[in-house]
Amino acid sequence: MATDYYAVLGVRRDAGQDEIKKAFRRLARELHPDVNPDPKTQERFKEINAAYEVLSDPQKRQVYDLGGDPLSPNGGGAGGFGAGAAGFGFSDIMDAFFGAATGQRGPRSRTRRGQDAMIRLEITLEEAAFGTTKELQVDTAVTCTTCSGEGAAPGTSAQTCDMCRGKGEVSQVTRSFLGQVMTSRPCPQCQGFGTVVPTPCPECAGDGRVRARRTLTVKIPAGVDNGTRIQLAGEGEVGPGGGPAGDLYVEIAETSHAVFQRRGDDLHCTVTIPMTAAALGTQVPLQTLDGLEEVDIRPGTQSGQSIPLHGRGITHLRGGGRGDLIVHVEVQTPTKLDPEQEELLRRLSMLRGEERPSGQFAPGQQGLFSRLKDAFNGR
Ligand SMILES: [Zn+2]
Ligand SMILES: [Zn+2]
Repeated sequence: MATDYYAVLGVRRDAGQDEIKKAFRRLARELHPDVNPDPKTQERFKEINAAYEVLSDPQKRQVYDLGGDPLSPNGGGAGGFGAGAAGFGFSDIMDAFFGAATGQRGPRSRTRRGQDAMIRLEITLEEAAFGTTKELQVDTAVTCTTCSGEGAAPGTSAQTCDMCRGKGEVSQVTRSFLGQVMTSRPCPQCQGFGTVVPTPCPECAGDGRVRARRTLTVKIPAGVDNGTRIQLAGEGEVGPGGGPAGDLYVEIAETSHAVFQRRGDDLHCTVTIPMTAAALGTQVPLQTLDGLEEVDIRPGTQSGQSIPLHGRGITHLRGGGRGDLIVHVEVQTPTKLDPEQEELLRRLSMLRGEERPSGQFAPGQQGLFSRLKDAFNGR
């Protein structure tokens, strides 16, 4: 025995199409699986869909009124609905039916926000350390001055599209098991804008914008690093139809320095000194970012030792203050000794009792390892 479809929708037996449609819409909103996933409610939802399919179709309604089941393939018996619904998602049906619930209605605007743009800027280590001001050449879309971004040739204007009468979409009636379903798609004549431009602006071909080269002055803060992006709001591409401009991102690329290697906000360099200087101590001049300074090598300095010059590194991007400059010492052993030098060194080794050193063995590569570790720790 078939279900009482009129009772399912809560309408009288002589209800008109409008009343049936209204009742179905109200129930469908209430019982939609997306709103109420409870299995019982979903059963109800299937029922109201079946009821609507039958009652909204005059032919099926007639069959039903005469006691048949128009949803059963054999024209009789219950449970024909399941087969009919297979492969047809409820959400799809609801989307097709309501439309408004998912997409926006009405014509879309010709005016849209422009895209963001990106430009690479090379700066030196010194500029990164202290900040700088740079002039940039940027090539972006700007508002067309001939049409002020409207896209219409001077003296003309956009006209309401006659195909969709300005709505931006055209409707189409298709048949499904729900009966007649109305679907909308963007109007092919105006691409959904609701207006057409009969005479496009000759300067921008109707886009409302043209490409132009501008010069921008950009302030680069101290402490920027490779890959740092500086955002310049509203300096990107102007949008179509005179829409607001996107942002411009300036990506920093730091050129390598002849002496200093940057790790975070610290700078590292290596100084090679002769063995005698390492033993006796000395001072070596170093051109730092702040000018010439003497690096103090203390007597007895070992190869691999590092000497920090505090506050001689890169300015911290946030919070101020500066990193360090770290000088790594490399002690050079003399080669190609002349007879006198060799004699002196032999005498020295004798005085120090180092003619036959036993050596101090340890596992692994102690010297190299500790140096690597130093590098890792920024020391
Ligand atoms: Zn134009
Ligand atoms: Zn249209």
